[in-house]
This record gives sequence, structure tokens and C-alpha cells, in this order.
Amino acid sequence: MKAWRFYGFGDMRMDEVPTPECRPGHVIVQVLCVQPSVTEAQLAFGIRTLAYEKIKKRLETEAPVQLFGHEFCVRIVEVGAGVTRFKVGDRVAARAKLPCEQCPLCTTGRQHLCRKGPIIGFQLPGCFSEYAILPEIALVKVDDRISDSEAACLQSLSDSVASVQTAQIGMGDTVALFGQGSMGMECMQIARNSGAGLIITVDVRDEACRISKELGADYALNASECDPVEAIRDLTDGNGADVVFECAGGSPKQGLAGNRSLLQAIDAVRSGGKVVGVSWFGQPLEVDIDLLRERSLRYLFPDISTVENLAHTVRLVASGRVRLKPTITHVLDGIDKVPEAFEITANKGKYQAINPAQVML
Ligand SMILES: [Zn+2]
Repeated sequence: MKAWRFYGFGDMRMDEVPTPECRPGHVIVQVLCVQPSVTEAQLAFGIRTLAYEKIKKRLETEAPVQLFGHEFCVRIVEVGAGVTRFKVGDRVAARAKLPCEQCPLCTTGRQHLCRKGPIIGFQLPGCFSEYAILPEIALVKVDDRISDSEAACLQSLSDSVASVQTAQIGMGDTVALFGQGSMGMECMQIARNSGAGLIITVDVRDEACRISKELGADYALNASECDPVEAIRDLTDGNGADVVFECAGGSPKQGLAGNRSLLQAIDAVRSGGKVVGVSWFGQPLEVDIDLLRERSLRYLFPDISTVENLAHTVRLVASGRVRLKPTITHVLDGIDKVPEAFEITANKGKYQAINPAQVML
């Protein structure tokens, strides 16, 4: 089969490799649609972010290696011994993080909390290939009402579900979201489905603001035209928002906000309120902890998503409560377009992309 393999940072090549053989508890799948996550797209070019050192080490010791590809929609073509929940022909998506099945958490029924297991695309081959082998335990069936293209977003959506769950939004809480990329728009729509009152979003792109409004934001502020902190205070009687999601931070070279959106998020939340840190920054940050302490702010980090979170995404999208289509701006045809998808996804600002660029196989 054809598979993309990495020979080093910035060096991916399409090779002919053996099609994987099925094992007990696993399925063989044909890839229908796959997209790089933003993290993967940055790592592919050697940009420092989550898991950079681990990927660097794998490239140095194992190259060429099949990396990345945990956001996908695939069709099952073979089921291994012991697989009970799926049959040949089912379309499935997956949770990227797998339980190790050996640690004290895993052996006491708390696999969802395990941090020791492998991650699809990082320690295990992902789906930038024609076929892949996946463990049953990570999979969820895709509802017929969800397209292949939408289904490829379910993994990322499950992280957004986990982020909103972490926020524990109260009924009627005012919610502000900095950054209306794919996760920002996902968190916005899930918050809207989870009791949020007034919803205010912030981005610097007109198109992102327009889509955000279309998907349900009450106000979509363009931070290049106004002071978003002042505007959020004005809209909340001077108090600030009850909950603020920070989804814009990261390297300005990739069109992200650096740490400015985090500082704004801290300024825009009410005293005693919650800031949910969704972004990855790729480097240490300086934050005035005493300010957080003085204002009794809760700076929360999202829990890792569970298979239950993933199953919830299927309901949200199938029922139309979360709309993904308007965020899918770039869809490419054919496995040879994979490098182009990485380029677009690593530079979403430059290409005016909201969701990562997808490849239909
Ligand atoms: Zn474990």
C-alpha cells in the first residue's frame, strides 16, 4: 500500500509499504478522509510544540517512520478475533490516546485517565496511508448522517467536548472565546449546547468572525478593529465573562497570537471566573500568578477526552447541534496531496483555513 513516511523534519515521502496484518482486538481499515492536527502539522516541519522531543528522537533512531494521522474517517475492511462492536463496512473514527492496560489506573477501571498508553500517529502508525490497523478499544461508529469529511473532525471535537466539560459551565454563564479556529468554534458550539448564556467570540479574521456568528455566537469581535477586553467588559456590565476559553495562543509565525490572547483572556474573565487554556504555546510563558491569585481566577487545563466524549460528538454532529461543515475550508483529493495538507494546516493564517486541510483518499 501507499503510505507517507517521515525521513526527518520537513522530509516526508510516499513509499510502498506492506499492508498491515490484522491482530486480535484490532481492525484493518481503509482510509476515507484524514487531516493533520495543527500539532502534527507543526511537528512535521520541526516547529517546537507538544511532543517535539519524542518525535525528534523517533526520527533520529527509526526513520523512515510512519507518523501522525489520528484525525480520520475510515471504513473497516477486516475484523480481528474477539472484536465484537464492529463489522466489516462500518465507518469509524477514533480516540487518539489509548490506555496502557497495565498501570494501576487501567487495572482498576479508570483507563480514561491513563497517561502511559500509546497515541495513534505518535507511537503507533496513523492514517496517512491507504490502510491502517486500529485497536477496537479506541473506536466509535460514525452515524450515517455524518459525512466522511465531518467524521474526520470528530477526534478534535472530542477534545473540545472534554474542554467544555472541564469548564463546568453554569446555566446562563457568559462565555467568551479567544480564537475561532476549529477548536474555538467547536468549543463555542458545545458551550452553547451546555447551558451558556451570552456568547462572545474573538478573532482577527473577518471570515472567522462571520462563520462564528453564523454558528451561534451572539457577538463576534474582530480584535484587529477593537479592544476585545474592553468590549467584553462593556457587554457584561463591567464584570467580565464567567468563563473564557483561550484558543488563539501559539507561534505568531503560524499566524497565532503568541501569549497575547492568554493575557487578554485573564483580563476579560470576571474575578472568581474560569480561564480554560486550550492552546499549546510551544515554550514557557511568563504569567503574573499573583494577579490570578488576587482575583481568585481558575486557570484550568482540559481533561484528556474519553471514548464517551467521542461518542457524544457523534450525537452532537448527527443531530445538527454542532455544525462542522462551515469550518471545513480546504478539502484536497488524493493521497499525493498529503504534504499540501500539512503546509496549509501549519500556516492556517496564510491560507485562510479554519479547520485543518483534509485529504480525501
Ligand atoms: Zn494505563
